[in-house]
Amino acid sequence: PAEEQAVSESEAARVLVIGAVNVDLVVESDRLPGPGETVVGSDLVRHGGGKGANAAVAAARAGASVRFCGAVGDEDMGASALDGLAGEGVDTSHVAVIDGVSTGAALIVVDRDGENQIAVAAGANRRVDPGRCRGAVEHARSWDAGCVLVSTEIPAAAVSAALGAARDQGIPTVLNPAPVSAGIIDVLTTADVVTPNSAELGGLYRGLFAPGTTPSVPQMAHAVAEHCGVTVVVTLGADGALVADGRRTTPIPAVSVDPVVDTTGAGDTFNGVLAASLAAGDDITTAVRRGVAAGSLSVTRTGARTGMPTADAIARAMR
Ligand code: ADP
Repeated sequence: PAEEQAVSESEAARVLVIGAVNVDLVVESDRLPGPGETVVGSDLVRHGGGKGANAAVAAARAGASVRFCGAVGDEDMGASALDGLAGEGVDTSHVAVIDGVSTGAALIVVDRDGENQIAVAAGANRRVDPGRCRGAVEHARSWDAGCVLVSTEIPAAAVSAALGAARDQGIPTVLNPAPVSAGIIDVLTTADVVTPNSAELGGLYRGLFAPGTTPSVPQMAHAVAEHCGVTVVVTLGADGALVADGRRTTPIPAVSVDPVVDTTGAGDTFNGVLAASLAAGDDITTAVRRGVAAGSLSVTRTGARTGMPTADAIARAMR
């Protein structure tokens, strides 16, 4: 019943994800380096990352058919980023492989307490082409995609082209505005669902209204939803999420999990599963519930992608 339904619904779901793909290079050391200092750790651990690519993996794990559109460099890191996606069943035929540019990379140092320090080289993500995004969305129409998920960390012109094309093709969109920028605020009204965390919601609110004071999260979510004519879904970590559609504001509690091991990628998991669920025809409340359950399950394992759950695990957590 619930389990079978989750599987059969998501088998039909087709999602196009447009966003950043990175290779995460992680070194563990006793402590983080200070300015000008070198710390020495042991082995280099390398795994797939980038908000867009991570969300694509989450949607695929949850049972959707997923295409990813983005860009990598023509070196071995690009090949390994694409292998990581293909290994999860994600179609990478819309990814540009760009000569003489590095693949996006995150240089991560983690200390004994799990505290980290990260520098990101945007690399090929900065070269994601608006025309290619438009083309991917046009193909997605004939492929019968049920949702286009767009994340930032790619040029605002590419985000804008993707959202505009999806609107022209009548395909529902989810925009993950992380990080917030002026270019992203300009295109908010062209998205259907916008998914900030509470800090990003503050950025959107200040960018839109230049307020003297900062109201509560539900008030800001309502104001942004009403002003932009979008559904705002605010992710709230251990407190779940809040759905504001400009009329009412509905809290969705998290699934309580123990122990919380690593919250990296929780937002990406949420976004991927939300998009997969919307593509399967679920209403927004059900889709947010699935996304929240998936995000909660993901924090029980180390690493952004390791804890991303299957459709069955999500259905079990929602019972
Ligand atoms: P982001 O990583 O973008 O800041 P959040 O931290 O809000 O996003 O996490 C996204 C979702 O992951 C939340 O809505 C919730 O479902 C789940 N989640 C995150 N942290 C926890 C936690 N400590 N306990 C349970 N669920 C969590």
